[in-house]
Amino acid sequence: MSESIKCPYCEEYVEIEPYDEHYEDCQEYECLNCSKNFELYAEPTIDYSVVGKADCLNGGEHEWRQKTGSPEFYFKGKYICNDCSATKTVEEELATKAEMDDYFNRSNS
Ligand SMILES: [Zn+2]
Ligand SMILES: [Zn+2]
Repeated sequence: MSESIKCPYCEEYVEIEPYDEHYEDCQEYECLNCSKNFELYAEPTIDYSVVGKADCLNGGEHEWRQKTGSPEFYFKGKYICNDCSATKTVEEELATKAEMDDYFNRSNS
């Protein structure tokens, strides 16, 4: 059984072979038609949908955005790419011990 997905680059419908195993994460996929790379996201139902163009997988720059969440300091200096599932950590921007202490002191009192 194979499925068709629409390539975000050439907009052709290309056949893909579903993975045997169940993946929850994005999968990098190379278009059979234009050889561009992009990511596929496997829905729990094993329907595939295209995440979008991922120029960073084709020799371009990652589109970094700051991760957010709670507690806030935990995500300081942590970035995730908008277009693919790459992550990076900027050491200089990580929360300092003082900031962490401050957070825990505040929540304990
Ligand atoms: Zn294509
Ligand atoms: Zn990327």
